[in-house]
Amino acid sequence: MNMQTQTLGYPRIGKKREVKKALEAYWKGDSNAETMVQSIRDIEANDWQTQLNAGIDRIGVGDATFYDHVLDWAVRLGMIPKRFRDLSGLDRYFAMARGKDGIPALEMTKWFDTNYHYMVPEIEESLESADFSDFLDTVKRAQSIVGDRAVPIVLGPITLLRLSRLNLEWEEAISQLRDRYVQLLEKLKKVGVTEVQIHEPALVFGNAINLRASYQSVYANLAGVGLPINLATYFDDLGQAYPWVVNLPVTTISLDFTRGNNLDLLQRHGFPAEKHLGVGIVDARNVWKVRPDEILSTLESIQKATSNLTIQPSASLQFVPYDAKQETKLPDPLRNVLSFAEQKLDELVILARAASGEDVEQQLATWKRQWAAFTEFSPANPSVQERLRNLTAKELERPLPYEQRRAVQPDLPAFPTTTIGSFPQTSEVRKLRVQLKRGELSEADYQRAIDAEIANCIQLQEEAGLDVLVHGEFERTDMVEFFGQQLSGFAFTTQGWVQSYGSRCVRPPIIYGDVTRPQPMTVREFKYAQSLTSKIVKGMLTGPVTMLNWSFPRTDISRSDQAMQIALALQDEVADLQVAGSKMIQMDEPALREGLPLKPERWNSYLSWAVDAFRLATSIANSQTQIHTHMCYSEFGDIIDHIERLDADVLSIENSRSNNETLFEITGAGYKHEVGNGIYDVHSPSVPSVEQLVKQLRTGVENLPVQQIWVNPDCGLKTRGWEEVIPSLKNMVKAAQTLRQEIESNAKSRG
Ligand code: GLN
Ligand code: ZN
Repeated sequence: MNMQTQTLGYPRIGKKREVKKALEAYWKGDSNAETMVQSIRDIEANDWQTQLNAGIDRIGVGDATFYDHVLDWAVRLGMIPKRFRDLSGLDRYFAMARGKDGIPALEMTKWFDTNYHYMVPEIEESLESADFSDFLDTVKRAQSIVGDRAVPIVLGPITLLRLSRLNLEWEEAISQLRDRYVQLLEKLKKVGVTEVQIHEPALVFGNAINLRASYQSVYANLAGVGLPINLATYFDDLGQAYPWVVNLPVTTISLDFTRGNNLDLLQRHGFPAEKHLGVGIVDARNVWKVRPDEILSTLESIQKATSNLTIQPSASLQFVPYDAKQETKLPDPLRNVLSFAEQKLDELVILARAASGEDVEQQLATWKRQWAAFTEFSPANPSVQERLRNLTAKELERPLPYEQRRAVQPDLPAFPTTTIGSFPQTSEVRKLRVQLKRGELSEADYQRAIDAEIANCIQLQEEAGLDVLVHGEFERTDMVEFFGQQLSGFAFTTQGWVQSYGSRCVRPPIIYGDVTRPQPMTVREFKYAQSLTSKIVKGMLTGPVTMLNWSFPRTDISRSDQAMQIALALQDEVADLQVAGSKMIQMDEPALREGLPLKPERWNSYLSWAVDAFRLATSIANSQTQIHTHMCYSEFGDIIDHIERLDADVLSIENSRSNNETLFEITGAGYKHEVGNGIYDVHSPSVPSVEQLVKQLRTGVENLPVQQIWVNPDCGLKTRGWEEVIPSLKNMVKAAQTLRQEIESNAKSRG
């Protein structure tokens, strides 16, 4: 039997980030709408052509976007909040994405457990009328290029509602949407497509069972249109929902076989014989070539359970870069085992042929050879592995419990003031790195220039009156890249961009081997900064979990082992900083929460090793050394026990946006360590007044004993300008002084 291949979405930013460039030129007024739209359509057409050339049988189309595909569906379906209704067209679209003239944008948040961010639709009581014309036009354009291989990708109604902010009853929202989706499918049928993909990733949330009735009634309606539906789920298994989901009235069910236990569910519960199974077996969220033996044996097990199969990536390929062949600077043995979107297309075709019983031995042999060459190129590092094997519980434990070690840690005035680490990365600072890279600046000259920035930064912090200083992180491009570049086992691409949100793209590092730290990474800059001042300078490190969560991990050892390896490297850095005289060390973990599994029942096992990794990295600190950590833009309420278990002496958090909610969650849980309640919103260009900051601090005082309170901005100052940062920090110090005086005079009046 001839097995087919299909895709569920493709990278959409352009191989050279053309979409980013087109959008940004348009926003700046350097190009017009027509030019911008045309260049994005050219990229889209090109991406269809690539999939056609690779031989993909059914090509998912319609996922390309000017900003975000969730926003696209919200707009098409008429979910326009009132505040945008005076606007129209692209103007309105970009206002919803980015805000305009004081009209706040939709909120943005993480798409499931990926590092992609979507715009959260707001559904108000009355919807505007639906308009699918842009989508239908796209489908027609696709048909003109790939013919009836074009399969429209539609974001499913229940997932859309589940991810939206609802200002009406669930049932009411469902009934409004249902009719619109029915209309959409009818129109698609008229356009002549042979199938539609409806994506319902929300089915993998552990609580999908609660939504069962909604899914059943909506899909009964959609099936009534008579257009074959491929119901696509991904990012995890269906869990308890498996038996009823596979019986929904659709023709194909697509499952992710790279994450969770779908294979086990399939084997235990079987699969309806009349249905098609979309086998998401090529990992759409990592960059490694398939390992032939493993993947073919999984495929074989799937074939034993059911026979109507389509081979496909586990999800949209938007989560990986375009083409590993472009990475000519990487060593061949590494590049040859990397698989970005284009390579994954080839893998799909070969796997489908293998599963159809065709002879693909030669291709499989090549893959095996490439993996063997890679293993030779990047052998295991016995000393790292041994260090991991010999870990003892003691290494995860500070020498003294919190109360005792606090007594021997630095003494500071009440309301100690500090910052989160980075200071403005001006274009001059970024230019230094470009010059260094081009060879226009020697390493020594580069360091001298960085040192001048550090000296200036220390002086400005002293003038502002801050209590605990930082060196400013001028030598760092990015908090993960900077460390990864100095660790063995990390690789960096030149073109490996993936979309983070809108026009913003990131190039995640690739962890490919055992991680070691050949030499100190931050000690030189720390020592220099500390030599300039009698105040304490905090050492600044990125935590192991954040390093892992913002990278593409390897797949031959577990994520927890990788976190532990990074933690050991950081442990060495903490030890060296301490020897160099550091009295406070901050280890940032802004991405701790990002690795949380989608199913709550799996949270504890993740958090247990994630917190262990942080403890392993920091517990080497003497009792006298104060360990700080920083987290931002995430909720804490439901993981507070784990945050306590980090056992950091000081925790600084983002707050100014969430209206102190995070602070309340933390204090409500009876957190006993010190807390820096971020009182200055670093994402706003305005300078907060002393009164505003005092008000914020008072919220802290009402909720926490004074001895527990630190005063700091809510995140790094990297993206701000000096002209805002200096007055803001001065005001922050004044606010702290105001409260200091208040408690002193209160103490006096009490006698
Ligand atoms: N220390 C980092 C900085 O100040 C922290 C960044 C972050 O939390 N994302 O930039
Ligand atoms: Zn932060």
